[in-house]
Amino acid sequence: MHDDGLVARIQAVRARIAAACARVGRSPDEVTLVGVTKTHSAALVRGAHGAGLLDLGESYAQEWRLKADETADLDPAIRWHFIGHLQSNKARVLVGRTHLVHSVDRVSVADALAERSERSGVVTRVLIEVSVAGEAQKSGCSPGDLPSLSRHVMASPGLDLCGLMTVAPDVEDPEEVRPVFRALRQLRDRLRSEDPRGALTELSMGMSGDLEVAVEEGATLVRVGTALFGVR
Ligand SMILES: *Cc1c(COP(=O)(O)O)cnc(C)c1O
Repeated sequence: MHDDGLVARIQAVRARIAAACARVGRSPDEVTLVGVTKTHSAALVRGAHGAGLLDLGESYAQEWRLKADETADLDPAIRWHFIGHLQSNKARVLVGRTHLVHSVDRVSVADALAERSERSGVVTRVLIEVSVAGEAQKSGCSPGDLPSLSRHVMASPGLDLCGLMTVAPDVEDPEEVRPVFRALRQLRDRLRSEDPRGALTELSMGMSGDLEVAVEEGATLVRVGTALFGVR
C-alpha cells in the first residue's frame, strides 16, 4: 500500500524535527521518530512501514499484540515501542517483541518485566516514565522516587535501562512545557553521571503539539500520532 498523504505527513514531521535540531546544533540522526499507531488499523501499520517508518508505538497491550501478529511478515521488521500505562500482567505480552518499553513507572512492573525476561532468556530495553510536573495523573513515577526505582531497574538482570520518558501536560502554548522537558533532561543527566555504564542516553519526550520544544531540549525519541495519522 502506498499513501502519498502519509508520505507527505511523515516528511513534514521529519522537517519539523530537522528545523528544531538546526536551531540548537543537533543532528536529526540523534532523534528517532516513533509513529504512534494506537487505535489505528493493521493496514495503517503496513502503510507506515511502506513509507519507511519502522519505529511504531502502541499504548494498549492486547490491541498491539493483534496488530503485531497481523504485520509479523513485514521485512525489515517493525521496531515496536510500548508507550502506554503498564500493568504487571502485561509483561508476558510485551517481553520478546518490543524494541523499547517507555513506561516503567514502579517496582512491581519492573519486577514483572524482569522476571519474564529472565525466564525467556532475553533482556528487555526499558525507559522509566517520570511525572515531572508531579500532577495527579495515572502514570509516571515522581522525581523523588526516581533514584530508588532507577537503582532497582539497573540491578535487574533482565532489564536494560536506556533512559527516561515523560508525557507533558496538554497546553495551548508548547513553550509552557519547556521546563518539563528541561527537567527530564536534567534528571537523565544526573542518573547518567551515576551510571557506571554511562548507558542512559535516551530521552523520550515530545508529541504532535510540542515536538520542537522537546527536540530543542534534547529528545532522542519523539512519539507522534496525530500529526502523522490524523485525529483518533
Ligand atoms: C497517544 C500518545 C502519543 C501521541 O500523541 P499525539 O498528540 O497524537 O502525537 C504520544 N505519547 C503517548 C504516551 C501517547 O499515549
